[in-house]
Amino acid sequence: MSDLVLVTGGTGYIAGWCIATLLDRGYRVRTTVRTLEKRDAVRAAVARAGTSVDVLDDRLEFVIADLLHDHGWSDALDGCSGVLHVASPLTATRDEDAVIRPAVDGTLRVLRAARDAGVRRVVATSSCGAVYYGHPERAEPFDETDWTVVGGGPMSAYVKSKALAEREAWDFVDREGGGLELAVVNPAGVFGPALSADATSSLGLVKRLLDGMPGIPNLWMGIVDVRDVADLHVRTLEAPDAAGERFIAWGDGPVSMSEIAEVLRSRLGGAAAKVPTRTLPDWLVRMVGRFSPEVGDLVPLLGQRRTATSAKAQRELGWHPRPWQDTIVDSATSLVEFGLVGPRDVP
Ligand code: NAP
Repeated sequence: MSDLVLVTGGTGYIAGWCIATLLDRGYRVRTTVRTLEKRDAVRAAVARAGTSVDVLDDRLEFVIADLLHDHGWSDALDGCSGVLHVASPLTATRDEDAVIRPAVDGTLRVLRAARDAGVRRVVATSSCGAVYYGHPERAEPFDETDWTVVGGGPMSAYVKSKALAEREAWDFVDREGGGLELAVVNPAGVFGPALSADATSSLGLVKRLLDGMPGIPNLWMGIVDVRDVADLHVRTLEAPDAAGERFIAWGDGPVSMSEIAEVLRSRLGGAAAKVPTRTLPDWLVRMVGRFSPEVGDLVPLLGQRRTATSAKAQRELGWHPRPWQDTIVDSATSLVEFGLVGPRDVP
């Protein structure tokens, strides 16, 4: 069996850590990018995770492929034994098609090409967004048996894209997967060190706090560290019994944004000088959300304290998430190191 693994979307925040983790465990990695101009930036990002230049030269290769087009995928999959399908747009937009099409059609493209190339297993990065939306709030944690009900309540285009893409993936493999195995990782909100200034994804929230947003919205979230998410992807790729399974990647939570702000203030010194202390009333967030898609995506989440459990990943794959407070501090430190928060704020 080949030791070559394809990681889709090498420019991304989570993908960078997945590539570094695979290389660290001895795999050869091929990654897709939409343009080869991103090649050096991806290499630099992976090097930042601790991968040596020799390893990058010997075991990391690039191929062009876009989730919206067939071209490139059969070359991308050629000779691979496994795939981490991580790429998917995280954009906040009112144009649902702009995120749903690449998520759903792109996932099917990857699965079809993987099946045709004789790949053993695809691990797809889904989300807790495919697990617990469209349900009434409940105290008991959501788990891998739960499914988001698209249309069951207000949810962003992004959440819909993840729920629909994961459903389509399972249906495809059941219907026409041949011998292809599918397994899925469903992360909570992913935080932890960025590897490049261009791939900060969900760290926008920490950045906005450090930049001194006007106040703290009434938001609660599950938190998981990007390094632990990458580790769980590789465990899911390797474990014989993981085929056909979903694994929730939930480190801790729900954690409120006020608690996150408090950790930043207490552990980051001068860099956290602008982190707000007052909370924002929900009505104000709703009003701003009418004009800003980014804030609009947060409105359905106001005051919601959904919780999920990663007991299955811990029990079956020996996975251990780290404390959320360290994850938040490491996120903020990397944003400061990349100069993404004002230089006057650096202690
Ligand atoms: P990210 O940094 O924004 O990465 C997204 C990646 O998707 C980029 O590499 C981007 O490539 C690629 N992409 C987008 N549209 C594409 C297209 N049409 N064709 C090819 N590639 C395309 O986001 P991330 O946080 O690492 O997220 C990675 C995965 O984790 C996604 O599936 C996301 O849904 C999932 N996830 C993330 C979180 C989180 O909190 N971050 C939580 C749960 C699940 P370009 O650089 O070319 O745009």
